[in-house]
Amino acid sequence: MQFAIPPAAIAAVPVANSDAYFPVHRIYCVGRNYVEHAKEMGATGREAPFFFMKPADAVLPVPAGTTGEMPYPPMTADLHHEIELVVAIGKGGSNITAADALQHVWGYAVGLDMTRRDLQGEAKKLGRPWCTGKGFDYSAPIGPIFPAQEAKLAGNARISLVVNGAPRQGSTIDKMIWNVAETIEHLSKFYTLQPGDLIFTGTPEGVGAVQKGDQLEGAVEGLGQLRVKLV
Ligand code: MN
Repeated sequence: MQFAIPPAAIAAVPVANSDAYFPVHRIYCVGRNYVEHAKEMGATGREAPFFFMKPADAVLPVPAGTTGEMPYPPMTADLHHEIELVVAIGKGGSNITAADALQHVWGYAVGLDMTRRDLQGEAKKLGRPWCTGKGFDYSAPIGPIFPAQEAKLAGNARISLVVNGAPRQGSTIDKMIWNVAETIEHLSKFYTLQPGDLIFTGTPEGVGAVQKGDQLEGAVEGLGQLRVKLV
């Protein structure tokens, strides 16, 4: 095939303890998936999960042992951190049941769903899409992906974020309203999942603003750390 212009590079995330890269197809994100975060964002109860997307090339891959540099994005004065467990899909499908869902998971990683909260808030108020608030360049910093068999991910693994040494977010992944399998079940009703899809599974309470120069250190127990500096 002859392309009229050079095709864009494939977005990719390093695989942990390997020279391989995981090619990114789509980035799905779950909204309000921890009880205490849902409350801080004004929700109540166990509402059905809802989803939004980021472009695949919004990933900012951060190899193990390094600090990623995220440019502070334009058009915001309220950039928020959301630390999240990320699920990497290895086997696609639609209408996947929760019972079968984990067979579709290739691996797990630590990610940040960086959010221009002021733009998201304005979009909510006006009933407009969240794209500019959520799906901007470098809005998805992510650490290496651990293959599911190698990931030492306990059901109650701790998830946390520290900014400039001060704890901001801390919870355990069993506090998710919809767990990984249930999330895949819901999401695959709306979309045919494909190998290479990433799912950001939502953030616990404690979201807040960061500034240029801040050092973010996120972690999910068993998946290592994700260090990002805002530049
Ligand atoms: Mn999020």
